[in-house]
Amino acid sequence: MPLSGTTEADLHVHTVASGHAYSTINEIAAEAARRQLRLVGMTDHGPALPGGPHPYHFMALRFIPQHIGGVRILRGVEANILGDGRLDLEDPQLAQLELVLAGFHPGCGYSGRGQADNTRAAMAIMDKPQVHVICHPGNPEFPLDYQAIARHAAATGTALEINNSSFGVSRAGSADNCRRLAGYCAQYGAPVALGSDAHIAQGVGQLDQALAEALQAGIRPEQIVNLTLASTLAFLGLTD
Ligand SMILES: [Zn+2]
Ligand SMILES: [Zn+2]
Repeated sequence: MPLSGTTEADLHVHTVASGHAYSTINEIAAEAARRQLRLVGMTDHGPALPGGPHPYHFMALRFIPQHIGGVRILRGVEANILGDGRLDLEDPQLAQLELVLAGFHPGCGYSGRGQADNTRAAMAIMDKPQVHVICHPGNPEFPLDYQAIARHAAATGTALEINNSSFGVSRAGSADNCRRLAGYCAQYGAPVALGSDAHIAQGVGQLDQALAEALQAGIRPEQIVNLTLASTLAFLGLTD
């Protein structure tokens, strides 16, 4: 069990298909193999984000080999929450993917509605069986009732992401929110996912701070769904 600051799987990585990221899936897989990762979630932004790929991108993911250079590649999406229970891919499209992250992003037609609306929208998304992870819930631009979100994550089995880039280059002001949310995840036993949110190959597998913050908050290693290849596949109901 790799607990010294590394994990075997990164569940949040962007390729050139996102429109504002800089590496191909082949480049990402090569770097992942070099870092001894065993699994990468290819989670490009959903179609509603400016510059994001057309829905055809997600339907064509069947052309991506299951393994590249020995690394298991998950066909995924970082879908945009557009309202209560509504994402920017249709349910049958989501059902074809192996990994569905869902989160709030500016510029997608859902913004500025306040904590109560955001919490209701996120909880309705967590009720969807196609959704596996709520990504970067600590973003201060989309405030949430963290206690309610953590309880609902535990009830629905949806993982809440601790996003490594939220402690550095992305979504300024997230860190304290992520720590509060992590505390509630520990309290309620909610599943937790770690993601690098890499937008270039060099960032794949950079999960050290997210992992350290999770453990420091009292989250138990078995709550973290992607510590190992086996735990990741089990959480998603997949095979290698
Ligand atoms: Zn995002
Ligand atoms: Zn992302």
